[in-house]
Amino acid sequence: MPSAFAHAAVGASLVPFLPQPLRNPAGFGLLAFLAAAPDLDVIGFSFDIPYSHPLGHRGLSHSVFFAAALAAASWPLWRHRLSSGATRAAVVCFVAIASHGLLDTLTDGGLGIGLWIPLDDGRYFAPWRPIEVSPLSVDAFLSHRGLAILANEARWVGLPCLAFTASVWAWRRYLPRPRRSP
Ligand SMILES: [Zn+2]
Repeated sequence: MPSAFAHAAVGASLVPFLPQPLRNPAGFGLLAFLAAAPDLDVIGFSFDIPYSHPLGHRGLSHSVFFAAALAAASWPLWRHRLSSGATRAAVVCFVAIASHGLLDTLTDGGLGIGLWIPLDDGRYFAPWRPIEVSPLSVDAFLSHRGLAILANEARWVGLPCLAFTASVWAWRRYLPRPRRSP
């Protein structure tokens, strides 16, 4: 997996697409959390769930269907909380959660990603895998290797996220909006 920082950066870069009332630090934190959350599946190791099991690490929680189910479950919450934009909020949540598995397919180690569980228990990688896999243990991460991984992620995840966010900002700031007819 990339580190939680890399996943959180991807999630946070989606904030501009949330409905206006959610474009705030809470929305930022929510999307960062949702994008990193699938790795909470490492808790399965404590219950002796094998890595390669559909419920193991990089299994169901990394699936596109899991992301869709979680996002769909959030829709009533948004409907209750927002006067409009509930579907939009749920779709952005889906993209944030689904981004996790897709980003993991770009890593150079571990088992592949169960993108299509439960329909297909196969584990998949992208054909191009430039991101160094992050160690599962915190001790290993807080080492020289951890710094090298963060530098790698800054290049392949952090900078593209910044460029993406800046592009969205510039698009909204400088492109004229169509006038609404009275
Ligand atoms: Zn992961």
